[in-house]
Amino acid sequence: MSRIRAVVTDLDNTLYPWVDYIVPCLEAMVDSLTATTGLPRIRIVQSLKEVYTRYESNEYPFAIQESDIFKPYERDFDSFNRLVVEPAAGAFKAARARWLHPYPGVTETLEWIRAQGLKLVALSDAPRNAALLRLKTMKLDRLFDALYTLPGYELPTNVDARIRRREEAGHYRSGTPVHELPREAEKPSPIGLRRILDDLDLRGPEVVYVGDNVKKDMPVARACGAVGVWAEYGTYISMEYRERLAVISARSVTARHVADEGHERWPLCISSFTQVKDVVQGARWSAPRPTQAKRARGRGKVT
Ligand SMILES: [Mg+2]
Repeated sequence: MSRIRAVVTDLDNTLYPWVDYIVPCLEAMVDSLTATTGLPRIRIVQSLKEVYTRYESNEYPFAIQESDIFKPYERDFDSFNRLVVEPAAGAFKAARARWLHPYPGVTETLEWIRAQGLKLVALSDAPRNAALLRLKTMKLDRLFDALYTLPGYELPTNVDARIRRREEAGHYRSGTPVHELPREAEKPSPIGLRRILDDLDLRGPEVVYVGDNVKKDMPVARACGAVGVWAEYGTYISMEYRERLAVISARSVTARHVADEGHERWPLCISSFTQVKDVVQGARWSAPRPTQAKRARGRGKVT
């Protein structure tokens, strides 16, 4: 068996519960928009979803400026920004501070991986800006050797001057190298993991790859010969949250972030990210021993 030299991990619903964070954040933003504009909730939700679909992310931070229904207010950007955009962004941020946290034991396990001298890399289908901002918010970015994401979004022309200054000053960047992959690298394409193996001079069997989505993450591990570890805990999402997410999140975005509750399984699965330690140290799935009755049937003896 190859010695493990690196851990590559998915982010959303693997290191932190993405759904537990995004649902209250979007709802808080919509509540703020209904309060400041008096527009019907349904119109606000549908207009935002249209923008999220276009940008393939419901964390696109300028969705309000780009929504059709708010266009009339943009005649005077300063008042629109102050009275509508800022309170909505503030509501999203406050909800994020409350709800975006790593799963128990994640930070300690990432620190342990580094302390073993292993490389630690993130591979996410989120746009660069959104993925990086989440890691920075949780102070996890410092633990990674590199972060591989899908392409980020640019600032729109009509944007708060302070945001533009911060962007130009590198406020939204990180000390961790961030690599944007081409769009076609979206999982289950193995392009992202292959690029990581190349860049870090690793062979597939030297890598443990962790992800919550059986259909998107595990085929990546299989294609590269890496040790695929299914973060099964990331698929446990309550029916109520799935329903609230469907109201507020564009369907294509949800499909990218949330695994279906399908019947597919992956044998090497964990119920906590902390179990990655066991896998790094050699723990593997082994098939259960057949029961006596099954063994007898296998020999053709019917009991
Ligand atoms: Mg995921």
